Amino acid sequence: MSDCCTDFDSVISLKFSFLSILVFPFHLDYHLKKLCLRKVPSSFSLSYVKVKMLALFEQCSMPLARAVRPPRRTRVRPYSTVVAFAPSSTRGNSQVLLGLSENDLQQLALDFGQQSFRGKQLYHLIYKRKLREIQDFIQVPLGFRNDLEEAGWKVGRSPIFRTVTAADGTVKLLLKLEDNRLIETVGIPVEDNKGSVRLTACVSSQVGCPLRCSFCATGKGGFSRNLRRHEIVEQVLAIEEVFKRRVTNVVFMGMGEPMLNLKAVLEAHHCLNKDVQIGQRMMTISTVGVPNTIKKLASHKLQSTLAVSLHAPNQKLRETIVPSAKSYPLEALMRDCKEYFRETSRRVSFEYALLAGINDKVDHAVELAELLHQWGHGYHVNLIPFNPIEGSEYQRPYKKAVQAFANALESSKITVSVRQTRGLDANAACGQLRNEFQKTPLVTDSDNLESQPLIEFQKTPLVTDSDNLESQPLNTNVAVTC
Ligand code: SF4
Repeated sequence: MSDCCTDFDSVISLKFSFLSILVFPFHLDYHLKKLCLRKVPSSFSLSYVKVKMLALFEQCSMPLARAVRPPRRTRVRPYSTVVAFAPSSTRGNSQVLLGLSENDLQQLALDFGQQSFRGKQLYHLIYKRKLREIQDFIQVPLGFRNDLEEAGWKVGRSPIFRTVTAADGTVKLLLKLEDNRLIETVGIPVEDNKGSVRLTACVSSQVGCPLRCSFCATGKGGFSRNLRRHEIVEQVLAIEEVFKRRVTNVVFMGMGEPMLNLKAVLEAHHCLNKDVQIGQRMMTISTVGVPNTIKKLASHKLQSTLAVSLHAPNQKLRETIVPSAKSYPLEALMRDCKEYFRETSRRVSFEYALLAGINDKVDHAVELAELLHQWGHGYHVNLIPFNPIEGSEYQRPYKKAVQAFANALESSKITVSVRQTRGLDANAACGQLRNEFQKTPLVTDSDNLESQPLIEFQKTPLVTDSDNLESQPLNTNVAVTC
């Protein structure tokens, strides 16, 4: 007998001894009896029996595999490469695919008894094709799609509840979250001198904001909850869907204070960078200042810009504009900014909302320049002429005052830019994001969107529905950013 046959026999006997322990009594008796009764040519009887035994093994091994397979796990492993970003999508009411990495999705496929390339397919369908529903993944077997849905998995995309288009092409989107709360996100297209278009997504990090800065509509609307990772990422995908082009820049300057939801913001930042493929340097994280968070952010050594909203050159004035500044003195904030630069080699940029007659005097500019020189050099200041909001006592400054402020900073060797106001007529400019469902969710179900009352900002007429973005511009004037 050849070696091959010996191996073959030993495999058979091994398999059978294993199976006989685990499965057999009934199947083996039944099949051997059948074999013995069957008439087969004597010269083939040995190999015939072997073949039948193999077939028997295969028959038995399927139920056996099912019996010994570990229970199906629908939880995914934490990020293997970035320990700090364990998937938050496995917590909360539903399990969400958006926000998972390619590795996570491959593991998920394996956990569902699929081959790992199915995970790659999921990744492609979520991040490249940007599909919204699992049942739209027609490249994936129906059984796998059904298994995912039965286990409570969703893609994690929210419907676009409303869109408003401003005359300058800025589009504000309202996304309706799973708990019927609405968040706002803004797409800002800018064409440069060479004709290429940059599309910036201004994303929200919370539903509302607890910090109540005096000039900000979002703060006035109250606070409901932090956004989850996928709820931040999906804002960028929704803007890409509406504009039918890639988002090039992301600023975390929408509703909410990103540093109060730092974990989800970092996870979303990671996903936007690795999976949605937006460069770290194309992203800006903004904060009004939350104690101990700038240090934490610095430890991640991101290559993104940190924008700190100062709004005043001294502590006393700052407290009147930014109430939360009482718990984070200006000196401590500036020290943390200096430390951030030391850790990351990325300079902090400072945002300064100009409020007529409050903080827009040349003296304030001189004081601001002194403050910045005291804590380092090379700082950049973005001046933001106030965007009017309903119920605010603040006024937008005259152009002359804005220019004088900018000149005073420049003559003190501080680089400065005056933020061009975008989306004012859609109430989408900085400090203007607010909707009346920040605290109270919508009451009717998602199928009945038309019956919802319009949102606060639609006091200016609603321009378009999400499917008709090309239509008419609004007709109003000027605005600002925060
Ligand atoms: S400016 Fe930013 S931090 Fe202040 S209330 Fe508005 S959203 Fe919150």
